[in-house]
Amino acid sequence: MNDSMHATITPLRTPHDVDSAAPEVDLPRIERAVREILLAIGEDPDRDGLVETPHRVARAYRDLFAGLREHAGTHLRRVFEHQGAAGDLVAVRDIEVFSMCEHHLLPFTGRASVVYLPRDGRVVGLSKVARTVDVFARRPQLQERLTADIADAFAGHLDARGVAVVVRAEHLCMKMRGVGKQRSRMVTTACRGVFETDAARRAEALALLG
Ligand code: ZN
Repeated sequence: MNDSMHATITPLRTPHDVDSAAPEVDLPRIERAVREILLAIGEDPDRDGLVETPHRVARAYRDLFAGLREHAGTHLRRVFEHQGAAGDLVAVRDIEVFSMCEHHLLPFTGRASVVYLPRDGRVVGLSKVARTVDVFARRPQLQERLTADIADAFAGHLDARGVAVVVRAEHLCMKMRGVGKQRSRMVTTACRGVFETDAARRAEALALLG
């Protein structure tokens, strides 16, 4: 399954994106703020090693939060038709996740897995699944909301009959600060459509995701 197999590009129903477009990132404002943080912790922002740091952090944040200016519908409306049996499931496991916890602005990293039940054979390429995860991961996030956002995007933009998402992640705000929490991992799930209402189908879907 890859982009070259897209037989048709079908516009689906109007997307309900979770965010309207955010304004452009204000790089000078981030630079000023980072300089203030360095002063506040007792550092000298003008010493050799730090003088370019506000500039670098501003550009890094622009990339880490690029999802605020992207829409999942851009990726999930590029579908192709695959006429399998009506109950056939599509699962994509272990997509790498790099996100920033909105409580501490520290990274959380792990894996997302998605399984969906296509409607009328409409499926998307592997790369589109990964890009959809990135759209929501590259924002100030909570793991619970990231999981729900991915599920809602598949239910809304792709109009899948069912979708289940599992995210397993480690949070640096826990690992770096808490003694004895270095190995803890958080697991979140979100189910939509038939996987929300039909316990047997939900069990089948979640079993595919381990
Ligand atoms: Zn945190």
